[in-house]
Amino acid sequence: MSGNDNEAPVIIVGGGPVGMGLAIELGQRGIRTIVVERYASPQPIPKGQNLTQRTMEHFHAWGAEAELRAAKTIPKDYGIGGMTAYGTLLSGHVHDWMQRELVRPYYFTDNERLPQYATEEVLRKRARALPALDLRFGWSAHRIEQDDDGVTVEIGERHGAGRKTLRGAFVVGCDGSHSLVREQAGITQTLSDHDRLMVLLVFKSTTLHELLKRYPGKSFYNVLHPDLEGYWRFFGRVDLGTTWFFHCPVPPGTTKDNFDFVRLLREAAGEEFDVALDHIGFWDLRIATADSYRAGRVFVAGDAAHSHPPYGGYGINTGFEDSRNLGWKLAATLQGFGGERLLDSYDAERRPVFQSTARDFIEKSIETDRDFVASYDPARDLAAFEAAWKARTSGARTEVHAFEPNYRGSPIVLGTTGAETNARGAHTFKAQPGHHLAPQMLSSGRNVFDELGAGFSLIAPDAADATVAAFVHAAEAMSIPLTIIRDTFAGERTAYEARLILVRPDHFVAWCADDAPADACAILSRATGRD
Ligand SMILES: Cc1cc2nc3c(=O)[nH]c(=O)nc-3n(C[C@H](O)[C@H](O)[C@H](O)COP(=O)(O)OP(=O)(O)OC[C@H]3O[C@@H](n4cnc5c(N)ncnc54)[C@H](O)[C@@H]3O)c2cc1C
Repeated sequence: MSGNDNEAPVIIVGGGPVGMGLAIELGQRGIRTIVVERYASPQPIPKGQNLTQRTMEHFHAWGAEAELRAAKTIPKDYGIGGMTAYGTLLSGHVHDWMQRELVRPYYFTDNERLPQYATEEVLRKRARALPALDLRFGWSAHRIEQDDDGVTVEIGERHGAGRKTLRGAFVVGCDGSHSLVREQAGITQTLSDHDRLMVLLVFKSTTLHELLKRYPGKSFYNVLHPDLEGYWRFFGRVDLGTTWFFHCPVPPGTTKDNFDFVRLLREAAGEEFDVALDHIGFWDLRIATADSYRAGRVFVAGDAAHSHPPYGGYGINTGFEDSRNLGWKLAATLQGFGGERLLDSYDAERRPVFQSTARDFIEKSIETDRDFVASYDPARDLAAFEAAWKARTSGARTEVHAFEPNYRGSPIVLGTTGAETNARGAHTFKAQPGHHLAPQMLSSGRNVFDELGAGFSLIAPDAADATVAAFVHAAEAMSIPLTIIRDTFAGERTAYEARLILVRPDHFVAWCADDAPADACAILSRATGRD
């Protein structure tokens, strides 16, 4: 690339949460990146609020964890747990739901909750501090076209006549579910239609806060009503005590003007309460997955690659993981140590994870709830209902443990041949190829996560010097950034159950073993997509 302002190795279309996360990942690695975002400031719709522990690990890696926690709108001591209610919100038939704290020990950071626009503000601020990033807020992409040497992106000012032509080696569409980049790159989608029109309401109410004091520590509430056949009436706090959001299916043809939304809210709650509506929006409930996350020099990430109902809070979290996965691979390719197969592994790893998330978690939860409301009714048989309701509590716990996105079958992971990449696993401290690395305390008093490098890391506390030297020489010969961690673990034994662990830049395990490998070069080659 030349010194032209309108040229950069990477152009990101869409500066929502996923685009900004990717920009930071690249910017921190020194990759000059242009971000084109239509809006000058984030849109004031709360949307994706539930940020998992894993997402908070990204914010830690992106140098924005403290800022994000400071921007939260619900005080830490109030609680950000979830709850399911039967019939109405205040019916008294309730159980805990989505208790993400159950898997807290397997991650380096706590989970968090805040409105999406607040998260986006934090990302924008962090991105502004990175000199490698060129942020074009208030500009829209109108056309993209790729050729053998690069991609051309035509952009225009949203409120103005300015026009520019950008040129990049790669373009990433982080431009949401109606992605122009996906469409113009010719990437088709597979749709699973649920044929439901959904409403999103944002409203103010102080009496709802008073009514919900009977369920302390909860910030989101899922109401199962038999009429809705497994689809939810969903309340969420935007702040503590005043602002809320709500979504649920509404009859086809519903508009802002022909429906009594206040009555809907009161019916869903099961009591009268004061409501002042701030926002009414609609969308069609469906699951859409891009048939490929890559077309030549063009990639898609976040909602541009996968969109689905906001059931279980998988959207923004899945999108951030896309950014973390693609970011280091683009950087490694541009910096010369990523091989031919590295960029293809983005699709091979991330697409099956989303397909499994949609199938095994999102659609499964709708089916489970549909079966439940069809089978049990407290008015018909209270004892049978209560027994089944109690059993759901442990089911909800199992789901939190079982959601463990992994790349077991990835071409760049040295694991079991024929293994499947998906979102279904089990949280464990054991290091396993293709799985997220769990944190561990070292005898220095620091955590392994404090020591992991920005590139690859080899955890080798008690390996022979010659084994470590073989990795160091191989990495030097291939220009692969490699951090060596030789500290011993706190306590007698390591829960990793492996003496050598190669960790990728996104903190997934690429390879592990007890014994020195015959060829360290071969391991690093595979992990960087060279063979
Ligand atoms: C009611 C609701 C509740 C939700 N709750 C959760 C939750 O609890 N947890 C969770 O994980 N997810 C949740 N989600 C989903 C989450 O909001 C999305 O997954 C997330 O916004 C995806 O981020 P993104 O950056 O991929 O796309 P978007 O947020 O859609 O961002 C795309 C960006 O691209 C820009 N853009 C589009 N086209 C162009 C163009 N041509 N040129 C320039 N810019 C362009 C847009 O302006 C926008 O800023 C919820 C969604 C809704 C609707």
